[in-house]
Amino acid sequence: MNAFEYRDGQLFCEDVAVQGLADKFGTPLWIYSKAQLLHQLGQIQTAFTEVDPVICYSVKANSTLGILKVMNEAGASFDVVSGGELYRVKQAGADTTRVVFAGVGKTDEEIRFALECDILKFDVESEDELDAIARVAESMGKVGRVALRLNPDIDAKTHAKTTTGKKGNKFGMDIERAGQLADKVLKNPHLQLSGIHMHLGSPILTTEPYEKAARKAIEIVREYRSKGHEINWINLGGGFGISYKHDEGLPASEYAKVIVPAVKEAGCRLALEPGRFIAGNSGILVSRIIFTKREGGKLFYIQDGAMNDLVRPAMYDSFHRVWPVKPAVPMPADAESAPDGCEVADVVGPVCESGDYFAKDRALPPMQRGDLLCVFSAGAYGSVMSSNYNSRPRAMEILVDGDAYKVIRKRETLEDLVRLELVD
Ligand SMILES: *Cc1c(COP(=O)(O)O)cnc(C)c1O
Repeated sequence: MNAFEYRDGQLFCEDVAVQGLADKFGTPLWIYSKAQLLHQLGQIQTAFTEVDPVICYSVKANSTLGILKVMNEAGASFDVVSGGELYRVKQAGADTTRVVFAGVGKTDEEIRFALECDILKFDVESEDELDAIARVAESMGKVGRVALRLNPDIDAKTHAKTTTGKKGNKFGMDIERAGQLADKVLKNPHLQLSGIHMHLGSPILTTEPYEKAARKAIEIVREYRSKGHEINWINLGGGFGISYKHDEGLPASEYAKVIVPAVKEAGCRLALEPGRFIAGNSGILVSRIIFTKREGGKLFYIQDGAMNDLVRPAMYDSFHRVWPVKPAVPMPADAESAPDGCEVADVVGPVCESGDYFAKDRALPPMQRGDLLCVFSAGAYGSVMSSNYNSRPRAMEILVDGDAYKVIRKRETLEDLVRLELVD
């Protein structure tokens, strides 16, 4: 399904015209589709149903409470990487006993908070962290359930800033060291090893890395069990890719084909931590053209969205489709085609950085001051990474449901920008 479609020459989110929302609430504006969020989650729930999975929506992809609430009501659990994210999960009304907690630098305060919340498990990334969990758990008279985060040394062939499962990056531990830690867990009554965890990177558009990881997981589960651990969980993290350019994203069932048999063979339950797959194609960013200018032989569309709203192009060189909300030329199926009537241009924001752009050298229909522009596939790692750089208030967020919608985050005001600051 695609909740963002052009009908009668203008863009809709489900049954709500994007233009109407932008006129009413201003721009830049994040718009999410509840139906798309549920469809994406549902695909994963269905594809993996045979191994009774716990689908832990990765909060860092989009942590707005209104989104977490949709996930919670649809039966998802959560993957968090900080105490702040765990707090959000609680605020969304979720059951914290199914939460998993990853991250290389958990503080004692965060560990204590997680133990108070009785989370399902910590994904442990170092020996120091294991010691810290044991110490804090002991002081609280509790047992910390842990999974060891392994670095399987698999090259998932993503961007350098988003690969995580290759030797030499900061995540996880190599398999030999994890084996030594597993022995240490056995000797500590305040720790219980219940699973193994791997997160390979993101976005991954082939199934091979998961197949390799799942094969490794079987071996390791066997080894740990032979040492006396009760291993019940294999957690293969997140990373499923989505369609940024055309329809390159795989259905969840393709990943399931290589993962499910391995999990069954290991006799484990499966945890997954999808973020982008759920939120990415479920949200857009809508902006308005402020000026157009021709300079140095180039055409620039200067619009009111910027890198402080959506930093992915600046940070990861990532590609987002952009197209007018009421286009003079229909959007082609493939991002690389240049239909008649289009002209090559850059779409840039007002922030004072050359890296502040949404699209470079892109064939686009003609636009003028006041026209609305849509940045597609912006639901994941979009609003969540937004900042106040250049003292720009953060944008409003709206959740559409059929022909209805609600504001799930208000637009920041100029007063909000200085609220926490002190003078004298
Ligand atoms: C970021 C992250 C995820 C989610 O990755 P997606 O590509 O959004 O699915 C899952 N697990 C861990 C540990 C992560 O750091």
